[in-house]
Amino acid sequence: MVTICMVGTGYVGLVTGACLADFGNRVICVDVDAQRIEMLKNGRVPFFEPLLEDLVQRNYEAQRLSFTADLPSAVREASIVFIAVGTPDRGDGHADLSYLFKVVEDISPHLSGYKVVVTKSTVPVGTGRRVQQMLHDLLPAGAEADVASNPEFLREGSAIEDFMRPNRVVIGAETDRAREQMRELYRPLYLLETPIVVTGIETAELIKYASNAFLAVKISYANEIANLCERVGADIKVVAKAMGLDHRIGSKFLHAGVGYGGSCFPKDTEALIKIAETAGTDARIVRAAVDVNRERAAIAVDKAHKLLGGLSGKTIALLGLAFKPNTDDVREAAALKIHALLRRHGAAVRAFDPVAMERVRSLALDLTLCSSAYEAMQGADAMMLVTEWNEFRTLDLQRMRQALRQPVVIDCRNVYDRERMVELGFRYDAFGA
Ligand code: NAD
Repeated sequence: MVTICMVGTGYVGLVTGACLADFGNRVICVDVDAQRIEMLKNGRVPFFEPLLEDLVQRNYEAQRLSFTADLPSAVREASIVFIAVGTPDRGDGHADLSYLFKVVEDISPHLSGYKVVVTKSTVPVGTGRRVQQMLHDLLPAGAEADVASNPEFLREGSAIEDFMRPNRVVIGAETDRAREQMRELYRPLYLLETPIVVTGIETAELIKYASNAFLAVKISYANEIANLCERVGADIKVVAKAMGLDHRIGSKFLHAGVGYGGSCFPKDTEALIKIAETAGTDARIVRAAVDVNRERAAIAVDKAHKLLGGLSGKTIALLGLAFKPNTDDVREAAALKIHALLRRHGAAVRAFDPVAMERVRSLALDLTLCSSAYEAMQGADAMMLVTEWNEFRTLDLQRMRQALRQPVVIDCRNVYDRERMVELGFRYDAFGA
C-alpha cells in the first residue's frame, strides 16, 4: 500500500484521490479551502459529479481516504505527492502557474527521503522541468525527489468511469525509480489492459494539450461545416453522421451547436497557442478553432434576434446553465456568454438548470433563476436550449408551447426534431440546417 498526498480537491484532485484510494492506496487529500475540507470530512462533495459522493464516503469509511488542511504532515507521510490545483488562463492566454508553483514551494521543506512529485494539473510544456529545478533548489539536505507528469483526461460528468476505464494513461518521467512507482500505482488499470504510455516529461505535457486542442478543432470544424450547411441547404446532422461513419474520422465531437466551453478546452487551446508562440511556431489550426468557437454564442443570439424581430424588451428562457450535462461547472459556459449578449441587447433572462443553480446564484448575475424548465419558459418570448440535459430532451412540447408567450425556440444543441417543432407551430431554429 502506497501513501499518496493529493494537493487540490477539485474535480480532478478529488476524483483521482478517491479512485486511487479505491485501488487500495492510502490517500491524504489537502486543500487550502478549509470550508471544502470540512465539507469533505462530513461526507459531502463540494460539487456535482455522478457517483463521486458514494466513492468518497466508502473510501473515507474504510480509512483509505482522508482530508486535511495540514499540508506539511500530509507530505511527510506520503511517498508520492500529486499536484492537482487549477491552472486557469492568467488573462493573456498563458496558463496561470502561480497555484502550482506555490504548492511546490510549500511542499519542498517537508520532503524527506525519496519522493515522487507528480503534476496532475494541465501544465505548459517545460513546467515539469521548472518544478524539477525548484525542487533542486529548495529540497532539504538528504531529501531526494523526482518529477513526473501524469496528465488527466477525465471528463466532468463521467469522471469516475473515465478514471477507472481510461483510453490510456500517460506517464512522463525520467528515472527508473519514478517510472516504477508510477507504473505500480496504475497496475490495477494495466491489469485491465489499459495502454500505459511511458515517455519523457515534455512529451507527456504536450500529449494533454494536443489531445484537447484536437477535440476542440473537431467541434469547430463541425460548426464551420454547419455554417456552410445553412447557406447551401444541407443538413449538418446528416453530414456529421455520415462523416462519423468513416472510422478514420469517428463520430465523436462532431456535434454542431453553440460550441465548446468549460474549464478545459477554452483555456487549453489558448495556452497551446501561447506554448507554440513561445517556441517560435504558429498553431494556426488551433487559432482558427478558437476563432470559430468565439462566434458561436453571438450566432445563437442572432438567431433569437431574427425570429423575434429584435431583442430589446423581450424575455428569453435559457434552459441549461452548466457548460455541459451532468456537471454543475459553469466555467466558460455558453449559457453565461449568451446571457451577457442578451442583456446587452436589452432582453431579460429567466433560467433553469437541474444542478448548476447554486453556482450561478453565487455569480450574482442579472437574471431570474426559476425552479423548473416550465417555470423559466412561463411568459417568455423565446426559449433557448443551451445545455442538452436529458430532461430537456423529453420536455412536453405542448406544455412548452402553452408556457411560452411566443412559440419561439432556438435549439443550440440540435436536440429537437425540426419537422415536428414546425408541425407543432413553433418558430424554430437550430444549427446547420
Ligand atoms: P478546481 O478549480 O476544481 O480545483 C482546484 C483545487 O485546488 C481547488 O479546490 C483549490 O482550492 C485547490 N488549491 C488551489 N491552490 C491550492 C494550494 N496551494 N494548496 C492546496 N489546494 C489548492 O480545478 P480542476 O477542474 O480540478 O482542475 C485542476 C487541474 O486539472 C487543471 O490544471 C485542469 O486544467 C486539469 N484538468 C481538469 C479537468 C476537468 O475536467 N476539470 C480534466 C482534466 C484536467
